[in-house]
Amino acid sequence: MIGGNNSNNVVTSLILLSICSIIFVLRTPLSDFTVEKQRTYAVHRVITLIEEREIQPKESPEIQLGNQDNLEDYINEVKEYDVCIAGAGLSGAVIAERYASQLDQKVVVIEKRNHIGGNCYDYTDDETGIRVSQYGAHLFHTVNKRVWEYVHRFSDWTKYEHEVVGIVEGKHVPIPVNIETVNTLFGLNITSVEEMDDWLSREQVKYDHTPRNSEEMALSRVGERLYELIFRPYTIKQWNKEPKELGPEVTARIPVRNNHDNRYFGDPYQALPSNGYTAIFENLLCHPKIEVRLNTDYFKVRDNLRCGHTYFTGPIDAYFSHTGYKKLEYRSIDFERKVVKDIGDDNTFQPKFVVNHPSADANFTRIVEYKHMLNQTSKHTVMFIERSKDGGEPYYPVPNDENKALYRRYQELAAKESNVTFVGRLANYKYFNMDQAIINALELFDKDSGLKEENDDHVAFCVPTSQK
Ligand code: UDP
Repeated sequence: MIGGNNSNNVVTSLILLSICSIIFVLRTPLSDFTVEKQRTYAVHRVITLIEEREIQPKESPEIQLGNQDNLEDYINEVKEYDVCIAGAGLSGAVIAERYASQLDQKVVVIEKRNHIGGNCYDYTDDETGIRVSQYGAHLFHTVNKRVWEYVHRFSDWTKYEHEVVGIVEGKHVPIPVNIETVNTLFGLNITSVEEMDDWLSREQVKYDHTPRNSEEMALSRVGERLYELIFRPYTIKQWNKEPKELGPEVTARIPVRNNHDNRYFGDPYQALPSNGYTAIFENLLCHPKIEVRLNTDYFKVRDNLRCGHTYFTGPIDAYFSHTGYKKLEYRSIDFERKVVKDIGDDNTFQPKFVVNHPSADANFTRIVEYKHMLNQTSKHTVMFIERSKDGGEPYYPVPNDENKALYRRYQELAAKESNVTFVGRLANYKYFNMDQAIINALELFDKDSGLKEENDDHVAFCVPTSQK
């Protein structure tokens, strides 16, 4: 009975505390919210609900981005977190979101760059008012329903099926190769799937083994002529290697079609985020338990971090640079910005968002014109001409036997590193598409947390600065 009285008292106290919290919260002016959001998660949730119903998002709090001015203090001070994450790209942001929203854990995301979003980062080009991606076009596509549903929690999406044309021998042709590509390039009149299958099978090089490199992969799919026109020169420009020096997965990324399908991807779910990619990251990371530190080199601050667990999403060879192992090879991209002024609201420079230039005559691989992306309006247009290069920001892991073997040695080191998990494209030395990065991060969290049931009530409550 005494226990019963005690628990009654506890219940009564809890009710009183909740009422007080609610009254306190209701009386708290929104300008005080920045202070308020440091309080308990429970109180925060009440605020979130109130905001949703009564207050227009314009006044809601900003994402807690780290302050560059405090960087030195931060380095000198020991800080404790449940989870530390190096890198604010897709893998890092998804893992941060999961730990904060599902386990209410305190997370810090350390980012070397001056922005979140990794290579998905986009912004509005000042001169033209057109939203552009800083690190090249990003096209979201997936077969994975869980990923599709997950990304919809953090953004509205606009249906978009990406189509690419290539300029080959002076003609615009669909890429990936389809019936129209072949008809245009070889003056044929193929009209059916059967005729195209027949044509392809006469062109294709037959091997008695599965393709071992990117040359064999392309030759086995399209044959010598299309290989020389579309695959070989483009691949050399992009990778500075012959296709036979690269693993088969590189040219296998793009399909070959035996019909009129012009789409670059065949996935059932394809769309672009209606307010851009950066806004998704703001929503993922906008949580009172997540602190984001921009302009901060993880290696410079890690000695002062006390982390329950660390997720490292940067290049694995950078993490182990002290071992003296050879560096892994990455390919980077140089973007040359070109503006055409006063082209007119309804005009664009090129017919599609992305135009490939496979031929060896062009000293670039493709041109991306962002005005096409979600049909943006501007009287000008802005384009980025892409040229691949060595050095610079690491974009593409270079998949050949030597690099794969070296990566395995790094993997052995990683397996011995206690309390650190290596995740994402650079840490896994694998060229993931966006959806693969997301599902890997979600599944890693499932495994590490042991959570069976998802609590899907993480409400994104910040107004992304990119939408203001
Ligand atoms: N590729 C090609 N010609 C093209 C497009 C692609 O040879 O017109 C080859 C090239 O080797 C490239 C690979 O296919 O690296 C994958 O192309 P994808 O468009 O997926 O490259 P990403 O957009 O990821 O740079």
